[in-house]
Amino acid sequence: MGARMYYDNDADQAALAGRTVAIIGYGSQGHAHALNLRDSGLDVFVGLAPGSRSRALAEEAGLKVGDVADAVRAADVVMILVPDTAQKDVYEAEIGPNLRQGQLLMFAHGFNIHFGRIDPPGGVDVGMVAPKGPGHLLRSVYRAGGGVPALFAVHRDHSGSGRARVLAYARALGCTRAGVLETTFAEETETDLFGEQSVLCGGTAALVKMSFETLVEAGYQPELAYFETMHELKLIVDLMYRGGLNFMRFSVSDTAEYGDYVSGPRIIDERVRETMKQVLAEIRDGSFARRWIEENESGRREFERLRSQDRDHLIERVGAELRSQMRWLDPVEVHAGQAQASAEKHAGTERAASEQPA
Ligand code: NAD
Ligand code: MG
Repeated sequence: MGARMYYDNDADQAALAGRTVAIIGYGSQGHAHALNLRDSGLDVFVGLAPGSRSRALAEEAGLKVGDVADAVRAADVVMILVPDTAQKDVYEAEIGPNLRQGQLLMFAHGFNIHFGRIDPPGGVDVGMVAPKGPGHLLRSVYRAGGGVPALFAVHRDHSGSGRARVLAYARALGCTRAGVLETTFAEETETDLFGEQSVLCGGTAALVKMSFETLVEAGYQPELAYFETMHELKLIVDLMYRGGLNFMRFSVSDTAEYGDYVSGPRIIDERVRETMKQVLAEIRDGSFARRWIEENESGRREFERLRSQDRDHLIERVGAELRSQMRWLDPVEVHAGQAQASAEKHAGTERAASEQPA
């Protein structure tokens, strides 16, 4: 319980007053960082590839937009928000050659620094602000006067003002309203990868799918199985979000609570713990990162195969049909890698082309 949290009063905005921040990329995180920092009074310059579809969106939002190299040259702080797998190429071609002493180079995830893919020159400060939430929330919560909590890290503070600038950045993003926690690039990278593999994405998706398949294979109606194993999950997670496992257990029936105690540890058993340790070991020794980098360098064949294999799973077909009648859920259908919101709740300029969680 000893970790120190940093709030607005711990972050002096003066460290970035009058400074220019280059935001490289305008996707899920990029649009939120650019708009929040702009609304916090900083001078923002969005750097994008010449043919990027995001240019029009950023311009519509009233932001200054230009080539990546120009944004880097104009800036005091450079935040890299292109996909992790594209960062090395963009860095080597347009960012690295234009960096100068005293600038602060920033990341929202430690992957490329931690695994040695990007090695910035010595005179440049290197830091991280990693919001613990998807970009569209980072933006909408900020607009509502709140903030998304974040991790921050200082990898290198050559100038001596790196740490103060990283904290000022977190404040301008709205994150110090909720609280930010100090970490290292190693800790952030390893725990982020483990969390998304073990529970947030991998574990939860596998649990939902297997529970659904078990019911359907036993002859129960797929629609009912969908409500039971996917739809209701949100209601349960919302209880945990507000009051932890205790509040979830307080809210469900005693029967559900008893089943939780006696069957939960049989489903997620000691073998699963051993597998989790193995998954964590492969993250820490770099073998997961190597595999993912090689996959990207060889055309993403396995990734695309796995993606299409799950896309038309029965739970997805049944779910899309049922959600289409529940308009208040703001249902979204994903076709071949693209998210399309059926209800256009988010205004065009506020909405990024892609919004990915985790
Ligand atoms: P994204 O895929 O949503 O957006 C990337 C954007 O970069 C694109 O919209 C485009 O504008 C640009 N881009 C793509 N390829 C490019 C290329 N080759 N050259 C130049 N520009 C290119 O990415 P994201 O999810 O916002 O992730 C950005 C960073 O933020 C990553 O380091 C990621 O780990 C981190 N992060 C993401 C989230 C999240 O919720 N999405 C949360 C925390 C941290
Ligand atoms: Mg994450």
